[in-house]
Amino acid sequence: MSYSLIPESKLPALGTTIFTQMSALAQQHNAINLSQGFPDFDGPRYLQQRLAHHVSLGANQYAPMTGVAALREAIADKTAALYGYQPDANDEITVTAGATEALYAAITALVRPGDEVICFDPSYDSYAPAVTLAGGVMKRQTLQPPAFRVDWQAFHQLLSPRTRLVILNTPHNPSATVWQQSDFAALWQAIADKEIYVLSDEVYEHICFTDEGHHSVLAQPHLRERAIAVSSFGKTFHMTGWKVGYCVAPPALSAEIRKVHQYLTFSVNTPAQLALADMLRAEPQHYRDLPTFYRARRDCLVQALSNSGFKILPCEGTYFLLADYSAVSDLDDVSFCRWLTENVGVAAIPLSVFCAERFPHRLIRLCFAKRETTLIAAAERLCQI
Ligand code: PMP
Ligand code: GLN
Repeated sequence: MSYSLIPESKLPALGTTIFTQMSALAQQHNAINLSQGFPDFDGPRYLQQRLAHHVSLGANQYAPMTGVAALREAIADKTAALYGYQPDANDEITVTAGATEALYAAITALVRPGDEVICFDPSYDSYAPAVTLAGGVMKRQTLQPPAFRVDWQAFHQLLSPRTRLVILNTPHNPSATVWQQSDFAALWQAIADKEIYVLSDEVYEHICFTDEGHHSVLAQPHLRERAIAVSSFGKTFHMTGWKVGYCVAPPALSAEIRKVHQYLTFSVNTPAQLALADMLRAEPQHYRDLPTFYRARRDCLVQALSNSGFKILPCEGTYFLLADYSAVSDLDDVSFCRWLTENVGVAAIPLSVFCAERFPHRLIRLCFAKRETTLIAAAERLCQI
């Protein structure tokens, strides 16, 4: 019998993520990297000191599978303070290896072969592969710029007896828009009488610039009974490399998610969890100040680009800004981002890669989680096109 030892891929169409590709290209061309979303400044000193403290005290063995109790309790209190709902720290909160693991575990726990999962494109790149590996089928609505609002009329047509899960993301990466209360009301109205779950990716919950602020699924009394809310400390504390996140879900859902988490990672590194628990208790002002902190960076980049050929779209949340380059180039967005990195020295992310259907708009995503000097240097280059 002959065999090739080259497995038939379960994800044949999938390549390396655009974030890895663009960061590598930026490095190769010594470009200013506004592509992959990560800060070029450090997180709070206190958090770093607490990590060192817990390591030196010997907190270096396995954490409990669901997360360190002090951290789950701090998360429960923070959730109550912000969203008016106190989840049970034992049964409803699970600490995960970043939001990525929480998303994967939730999808794996819920989606069975043939189940349909609704998401809104442009959508974050980790959702669809997880659904595919679970045997599910993606059903997508492509949101249109500049508003990127869900068409709730059209949403109804995506529903079927096989619909199992709706994935939403607010504030939204990459469109930088946020869901309004009316969106949650429309979602509830559409799925209330069906067994459909909701996965709400809220990793940018603290980076929201609207007057109303972030609307969490956890603040929706009906929806939260069937929802998993996903958060990331990487975004909130400028530590994307720590890879600690968590999800909040009702006990029955959490129990299923934990069955996956138990064999995906078992538990998340102990000293980081202890340090994060200390940080949440000692400096809640850190995340309360984040909108002001990031608004200044957003406005700095918008201002610095005001004389450029780019048209800037409104940014309601996240640390990403969308720029329309139709006035400066006819290239498609993927080619334009490569050209920009290689010739202008600024790396950005094309939007079409977040869409399954053709997305012909000439839009790029710029990350403004950077020092002002970085933003101004990048804008100077962009203004020369
Ligand atoms: N969801 C969205 C929308 C994101 O932008 C990111 C990361 N930037 C994640 C999930 C993953 O977060 P983490 O790094 O905590 O895994
Ligand atoms: N979520 C980050 C972004 O949108 C990237 C994370 C990653 O590189 N996987 O840029």
